[in-house]
Amino acid sequence: MITCKYCGRKWRNMQSLRMHLRFCPERKKVRNNWVRFTIRDGSRSATLCVISRSPKTIRALEDQHRLLIGGQMDPVFFLGIAEGFRLQGLIETRLEGS
Ligand SMILES: [Zn+2]
Repeated sequence: MITCKYCGRKWRNMQSLRMHLRFCPERKKVRNNWVRFTIRDGSRSATLCVISRSPKTIRALEDQHRLLIGGQMDPVFFLGIAEGFRLQGLIETRLEGS
């Protein structure tokens, strides 16, 4: 058994470990591979940092973020959608204020 040094999960061989490393959320955190979405609300701004093992989920968020940037969506809704994804275990989030 080989242990992932980032998340501690065990893998049968090098090949399965390598496959896992491409998606390991803990590794993405260590490498600071957060996908960042800027959220502006009037004069305030924050950055929602997202990690997901699914590129599809990131693309879905990017689509919503485009609506936000275009002024077609309220920041509260965007954060609500992200929170929904988080509750489903699809993403991990971190909010950076500024
Ligand atoms: Zn891992």
